[in-house]
Amino acid sequence: MLAKDILPIPDILSARSVLVIQPHPDDADIGAGGTIARLAKAGATVSLVTMTDGSRGTMDPAQSMETLARTRRQEQEDAARAVGVKELLFLDYPDGELPAGSEPRDRLISIIRRYRPDLVMTVDPWLAYEAHPDHRLTGLAVAAACLFSSMPTFNPEDLAAGLSLHAPSMVAFFGTAHPNQFVDVDDTWENKRAAISAHASQFSGQTLELYLYYLELKAKELAAGRGPQRVEAFKVLTPTHLHYNVDALVS
Ligand code: ZN
Repeated sequence: MLAKDILPIPDILSARSVLVIQPHPDDADIGAGGTIARLAKAGATVSLVTMTDGSRGTMDPAQSMETLARTRRQEQEDAARAVGVKELLFLDYPDGELPAGSEPRDRLISIIRRYRPDLVMTVDPWLAYEAHPDHRLTGLAVAAACLFSSMPTFNPEDLAAGLSLHAPSMVAFFGTAHPNQFVDVDDTWENKRAAISAHASQFSGQTLELYLYYLELKAKELAAGRGPQRVEAFKVLTPTHLHYNVDALVS
């Protein structure tokens, strides 16, 4: 037995209650839409938190940020229906300006205690060369929130408000370069395509076709030799792995 095997990695598909936390509208559909749809079809309850309003996601100088934020919220609501997300929460931090302090983390701790997910999904903040601060900061805030949501010394006012402590049993990072779990998404690939297509302000026409082609090619590359035609890849860890654990990278 290896030391790292003392802390086994749970199976992502065993989750019954799922909280997905994404930096912008569209990130979760791109990284995990097929798996989210599969979990929802299997009866899991899936809720989606979007940290920022997506108001800067344009290259059109004539686009108003207020209008874009409204459009992107509507697109996310449509996409959520395509993959079976039950509830959406928009925290509406300004796009590109997610704060680095403890405030977003503390809000997430309260949300985890309220929704009590066994699986939390988010972007991998340790993705090499990730330049978008909202992605790095979201992943870090979520990881810290999963570590601290079981500790009464963080957000003690939650307990007075009737919430109780909660530790998710696993965190799954998508958009990862160090996957340790691969989910067969052949049966839900169409749901994922529909969800991504709903984000029309981000991808349309040829751009959409090219992006869907890229994602499918990547899903097939990752699936090679594993059985399914297409997979989504995750780094799955327990909260215990998320602090002072030298085996986390290889677990
Ligand atoms: Zn994003």
